[in-house]
Amino acid sequence: MQTKLAAPAHAIADIVATAIPDDERLWVPQADNVWFRPLLLNTVNGEWVNLLRVRKSGILNRHRHPAPVHGYVIKGSWRYLEHAWVAREGMYVFEPPGEIHTLVVDDGPEMITLFHVSGALIYVDEQGHAKSYDDVHTKIELCRRHFSAVGLGVDYVKQFVR
Ligand code: FE
Repeated sequence: MQTKLAAPAHAIADIVATAIPDDERLWVPQADNVWFRPLLLNTVNGEWVNLLRVRKSGILNRHRHPAPVHGYVIKGSWRYLEHAWVAREGMYVFEPPGEIHTLVVDDGPEMITLFHVSGALIYVDEQGHAKSYDDVHTKIELCRRHFSAVGLGVDYVKQFVR
């Protein structure tokens, strides 16, 4: 082990965690058959890192990204209705700003993908008009409500927030 040097005075705390948790309560429900497991909820850059889990034939509603998304498929496969390709286990996906898509899982039982999302998911209608959104703050609020409901407490989310 290297000699430990003092961290810079204003450095924020690191996060080291088992990504796929044993405790089912860490999976926050997002939609039917869709959950996310928060890893980093960054309120300074307006971004988050989470695992997305979809079971059976779940759908993540059509949305637009104003900022980049990076994905790494850990388990299973999924696709976007708007694209011909399929994201399979072990694959990396980059979603550029302006990308509009609807994520579907056709063949369960389960897919898990790590997503690093900047900015927001802007949910859009058939014409591409904004209907609602998710950003780091709506994600935090979903976590607060869920962790409270399952007995972990409203402040449990704080360990993921920077
Ligand atoms: Fe997306």
